[in-house]
Amino acid sequence: MTPVSYFPHQNNHMYVEGIAISDIAKQIQTPFYCYSSTAIETNYQDYQRAFSTQDALICYAVKANSNQAVLATLAKLGSGADVVSMGEIRRAITAGIPANKIVYSGVAKTLEEISYALSLDILQFNVESEPELALISKVATSLNKTAAIAFRINPDVCAQTHAKISTGNAENKFGVPISKARLAYKQAAALPGIKVQGVDVHIGSQLTSLAPFAEAYKRIAELVIDLRSDGHDISVVDVGGGLGITYLDEIIPSKQTYADMVTAQLSHLNCKIIIEPGRSLLGNAGILVSSVVFVKTGEERQFLMLDAGMNDLIRPSMYEAYHQIIAVDKSSNVLKTYDVVGPVCETGDTFAKAREVHQSDAGDLIAIMSSGAYGAVMSSSYNTRLLVPEVMVKGNEFAIVRKRPSYEDIIKQDITPSWL
Ligand SMILES: *Cc1c(COP(=O)(O)O)cnc(C)c1O
Repeated sequence: MTPVSYFPHQNNHMYVEGIAISDIAKQIQTPFYCYSSTAIETNYQDYQRAFSTQDALICYAVKANSNQAVLATLAKLGSGADVVSMGEIRRAITAGIPANKIVYSGVAKTLEEISYALSLDILQFNVESEPELALISKVATSLNKTAAIAFRINPDVCAQTHAKISTGNAENKFGVPISKARLAYKQAAALPGIKVQGVDVHIGSQLTSLAPFAEAYKRIAELVIDLRSDGHDISVVDVGGGLGITYLDEIIPSKQTYADMVTAQLSHLNCKIIIEPGRSLLGNAGILVSSVVFVKTGEERQFLMLDAGMNDLIRPSMYEAYHQIIAVDKSSNVLKTYDVVGPVCETGDTFAKAREVHQSDAGDLIAIMSSGAYGAVMSSSYNTRLLVPEVMVKGNEFAIVRKRPSYEDIIKQDITPSWL
């Protein structure tokens, strides 16, 4: 899937499924996020088909996009959830994802979060450290529950992705080093309230090559054999997420190729496989639709100043991420080179530098592509800008799936102390 697969131009107008983006923008003020339900479903079904020969459960990584409409769409298709907080557990359950399809990752789960997850009997805790394991054991014992656990293993491989989304190096904060894994499992097996169930690994995000995955899974397979010889009953391997998407021209292995590699590395273990895709389900299923506020001619360059900013989509400023920027109406045949920037008072509020876009004027609509994952979920109201609404399209219908708050909503969250 490319950034424009589900947002094609017809007669110079950008569409999503059966609706023109400009028709949505007539009813909802920009900026807004727009998702294609069909794109999400197709991506999920591609994974499902790719893993159909294995005992596999897809646990969507909720942090990529946690809107109820997204979760309910995936729940309906049978998806589980990979969650990293109590809030995400609540979102998943509310959207209809059953607890026995929820795996719980995260490096600093609190007592309260662990108690909540235990009370629901979730499928698995992906444990990231010995102190976390001790706390889970304590809480489980006090609640008379048994926690099914996997250790998240840090296999010490380089994911060859951006440093801020690489998680499987020895120097990262995530997981238990593979060299200490056998000892960690031995300790776990001796603790009350703990059932050793699986092994988990997640080496990073936006991987464009299978080689780091294959290396990590090979090490995990060897570990599973060692753990079994140590007497542990390992029945689950959670292979994490991380398969990348095409933002510009990256060539990404297909979901089938990825699944075949997983099979090659792990099928001899006869384990249940859990996969935790986030970006590869949502990324190219969504765009951020914005309007040009001004076209400003600087001394050296022209700026397209948008009504969307870094608070709405932080990936360019946080990860130097590339997003295609496309005019919603391409009827002007002239391409111009612009710096595309937002309204926030930060130099970092720049979506693109020296980018060719169809010549645009104030009021024209601009689409920032590949924004379905790590877009809306990372937004803030910095500069007291209103969180942007989210829209989901299915066929010829669309629905507002999160509405824009009002200024009153935002301001009334503050409390002026009595001495003022
Ligand atoms: C973020 C995350 C994922 C999803 O990663 P994607 O790159 O979006 O597929 C899966 N598992 C864990 C533990 C994560 O932290």
